[in-house]
Amino acid sequence: MESQTIQVDHCAVRKEKPKSDQLDFGRIFTDHMFIMDYSDDLGWHDPRIEPYQQLSIDPSAMVFHYGQSVFEGMKAYLTAEDEIQLFRPEKNMQRLNNSNDRLCIPPIDEKFAIQAIKKLVSVDSDWIPEAEGTSLYIRPFIISTEPYIGVAPSLHYKFIVILSPVGAYYKEGINPIKIAVENEFVRTVKGGTGEAKTGGNYAASLKAQEIAGKKGFAQVLWLDGVEKKYIEEVGSMNIFFKINGEVITPELNGSILEGVTRNSVIQLLKYWDVPVVERKIGMEELQQAHHDGLLEEAFGAGTAAVISPISQFTWNNNDSLIKDGKTGAIAKRLYDTLTGIQYGREKDPFDWIVKVEKGSKIAH
Ligand SMILES: *Cc1c(COP(=O)(O)O)cnc(C)c1O
Repeated sequence: MESQTIQVDHCAVRKEKPKSDQLDFGRIFTDHMFIMDYSDDLGWHDPRIEPYQQLSIDPSAMVFHYGQSVFEGMKAYLTAEDEIQLFRPEKNMQRLNNSNDRLCIPPIDEKFAIQAIKKLVSVDSDWIPEAEGTSLYIRPFIISTEPYIGVAPSLHYKFIVILSPVGAYYKEGINPIKIAVENEFVRTVKGGTGEAKTGGNYAASLKAQEIAGKKGFAQVLWLDGVEKKYIEEVGSMNIFFKINGEVITPELNGSILEGVTRNSVIQLLKYWDVPVVERKIGMEELQQAHHDGLLEEAFGAGTAAVISPISQFTWNNNDSLIKDGKTGAIAKRLYDTLTGIQYGREKDPFDWIVKVEKGSKIAH
């Protein structure tokens, strides 16, 4: 596997690039993609970079029927010095293999996958947008492709990486969001697939998100699927609260997805000597803390927004405004530091950054 070289087939015609201040999320893709195949007899093989193009997959391919698939989400950032940076890619590839394990997908070679991502980003490096807060979103994913509608782990897969230039998440400064506590639907449950990054979890979350969205909420707050008491995540982000000087995040419990951002937030808080604990936290406790004036901050954490401050939560028709609805000091400091490291403005005390070579400009 490690010894495999990645063939590069450059596209003949380059696409027009969008203006970097007019980007939204996830609709535009670059000129190339990475693909590698798996079959039970050959293992992972034929890693290659090809022009971005449609796939030809049998309609009976297992992924269309039983959803055996996993994905990742990460970004490449351009620094003011014109250097390309990835943020903790090894964490994403570790998690991809954790997800693979849960979904009965054969593991990938994590080091090789990072090499492949670096090479793809390098080939399409002139697609990384330059405007403040923009980045190149990286979407690695694996789908089961065996043409068979029997229920079993597939014997064939494709590992694919596509790239999408994305706009700044916050165009006019950090924007705190209103969230609704979800009492009816659950995202997942311990023993389910919540710890894996798999499409099914997202499919399961759409209904609650749609209903909350119509009522004017940006995200739903997911509770545990057993007792519907304990807080798990907000939308597709991990969640943090600051109560009476201490930062609390729900402990990993078998249904929470472990975010790279979550892990980085915890490390930074410890480094700053800000008290931080991972433990169960219930809605009753949160409501009480708010009532007692001890709830100082709440925020979500994930790759897309980095830090997403929460201005208000609504539970059983009760609106609770958190402080004055403004971004808290810890949320702001975390946002500034994490984005500072990602864009090379701040020192990187944890060696989180992995540099990528710029691709040589190919004459087309
Ligand atoms: C991807 C994801 C997160 C955030 O993970 P990051 O690695 O920080 O981007 C949190 N919760 C869910 C459910 C996710 O799918």
